[in-house]
This record gives sequence, C-alpha cells and structure tokens, in this order.
Amino acid sequence: MSARELPVATAPQLLSPVTVDILYTGGTFGMVDHGAGLRPRRGLGSEIADVVTQFERASGIAVRFEYTELEQVIDSADAGAGTARRIAEQVRSGTAHRRPDGVIVVHGTDTMAYVGARMAFELHDLNVPVVLTGAQIPLGRPGSDAGSNLSLALNHIAAQPVPGTCIAFGTSLHPAVRASKRACDHYDGFTTVREFTPPPTPPRLPERRPRADSPPVGLFAVFPGMDPDLLDAALRHYRGGLVLECYGSGTLPLHGDATAAVIRAATTRETPVVVITHCDSGTVDLDRYQPGRALRAAGAIGGGDMTREAALAKLAYLVDLGLSGSGLRRWMTANLLGELSNHHATQSIPNPTHN
Ligand code: ASP
Repeated sequence: MSARELPVATAPQLLSPVTVDILYTGGTFGMVDHGAGLRPRRGLGSEIADVVTQFERASGIAVRFEYTELEQVIDSADAGAGTARRIAEQVRSGTAHRRPDGVIVVHGTDTMAYVGARMAFELHDLNVPVVLTGAQIPLGRPGSDAGSNLSLALNHIAAQPVPGTCIAFGTSLHPAVRASKRACDHYDGFTTVREFTPPPTPPRLPERRPRADSPPVGLFAVFPGMDPDLLDAALRHYRGGLVLECYGSGTLPLHGDATAAVIRAATTRETPVVVITHCDSGTVDLDRYQPGRALRAAGAIGGGDMTREAALAKLAYLVDLGLSGSGLRRWMTANLLGELSNHHATQSIPNPTHN
C-alpha cells in the first residue's frame, strides 16, 4: 500500500461523532516568536477546538475530542532517546481510558519521522490509528498549514482506517515506518520513502520487557575522509547499537583494515552495527562490493532498505526490549510493520522469544 492509497473519509454524515484524543507535544504548530526566534508555547486547547469546529462544518463529520498536552512542550529538535516512548505511553494510557476512534499527536516536524517510527513499534498492538501531524507555519499566522494538517489527520481517523501509526502532512498520509522529512520550505514536508509493504499477518513482536538501563543507540553517516577513530568513538559511546548509514549498496571507506577492525571490535563487544543506505531507492547488499563483504565479515547486520529513521527506531526498540546477538539480528532483518520491503527482508518473521 502506498501513501496515496491510505483511506480517506468521503464526508459521510456519521450517526455518532468520531472520538479523538489530541495530544499536543510542541513544534512549529503552536510556536510564537517574541523576538528571539520561534519557540513552543502551552495552552493551545481553545485554538485546536476552533480548528475542530471548522473541520466539522466543512466535512459534516461530528467530532468529540479530548485535548491534552505534554507538561513541557518542546521544539522537537530537543527530542531525546526516551521522548517517543513517553509519548507512546501517554497515547496508550489515554486509549485504554477513553477508547477513542483514533489519536492525533501534534508534533514538531524536525523529528516527527524518528518519533513516529518509534511510536509505530511501541504501539504496534494498539487497535486504533495514531496520526502525527504538525505545521511548517504556526497556527494563526498568515499562510499557516496547521489547520489543514490537523483536518487531514481528523479526516483520516473519520475514514476508519486500519490501526497503525502514520504522518498526515500537506496533501498526503505517510506510514510512519517509511516517512522522512525532506522539505522545510513547502507544505508537503514529508515523503514516503520506497513502498510500504506491511506483512499480511502482523507478527507477534516480543513481549514488552523494557530494560531500566538501556545502553544508548545511535546513528552515524559515512563520508569521504571519515576517520575510523571517529567511527570507533561513536561505537564506544553508542554501545547499545549503531545504525551505520553507508553509500550505495553498503560501502564505506575501508582505510586498509582500519574501519573493519573497529566494527569487528564493536560487534565482539556485543554492540550491533546495522548497515543502511543513504539512497532513496535500492537496498543494502553486503555481497556486492568488497567493503560490504568486509562489513559482513566484521559482524555487521544488513539493514535492507530501511530508512534511517525506521532503522534507528527499530534498533533502539529491540535493544530496549533486551534483545541481543542472533535474536536481535533475526528481528532486525525481518519485515515487522512494513519498514522493510518483503523481498529485501532476509529472514522470515522470527519466533517471539528473547534470545
Ligand atoms: N523546529 C520545529 C520542530 O521540530 C520545526 C517544525 O515543527 O516544523 O519542533
């Protein structure tokens, strides 16, 4: 299913109102500039109510919504490793309480794809749709896209889609595990990178057994002139695991044996290294070139055609569940939610056991 095929409500006159939880977390959507640059502000409830009323008038769809906001709303550039998990917990407890038809999370665009992808894994078993949205221009400013983006999200929920996490922005809906922000100068800020091919039968992901003390997980992009010592430092810091964004089908500067040696040292320390490509099309193939073979021999995991946002979210999610070694490798290379193309998933869906 591509982004364009996601269901859209056709303005039916619903008998009962659509019920929606709206959680505001920050971002340009609600920002103001008092002379020191755009900053988030709290207390958006009545302005959001106005947007919902306009949506009801324009669509003929009645909406009953519950509005909450984070205690500390942020510029999403400030999102930390635990931000998505905390938002997901709030979404989960709200839905358990109120059983809405769907949830809208108003979020900054800068990290929306990272947070959305992580939420997709965290909330894979939630039986309602979760839609992230935001804006390029704040609510109430001339040319603001905040109202139309929120309406797109409301419309998606009214269409009663299958559960799952997506981003509603501009003119499109993007599955969160395939979304990426690619524009900060026009309304269609997000792209669906590659095809969205969720498995026909959703897998039973491992039971939640979150570690209290998860080691950090990070992302590192290779570049001409990359010093293997810098990669080594990243691998030592992000000891929980590293997504390594390589060139083409999975190549990087080898510096003789130096690069492979630092990767081998990391995988020996049980730090997983997941190789993805910076290309928007095609997949990692660690057999194709000599550097790919060196990566594989050093214990790196081929990350197929995952986006950087989805790869980081998935790796951090699995590490947080306490997975490591061959168990982590099996889950990482299986298509769980459509984050990998089926023909690029190198493993069938593994058993939900921790090993
Ligand atoms: N810096 C803002 C944020 O991510 C950008 C936006 O929301 O568009 O919070």
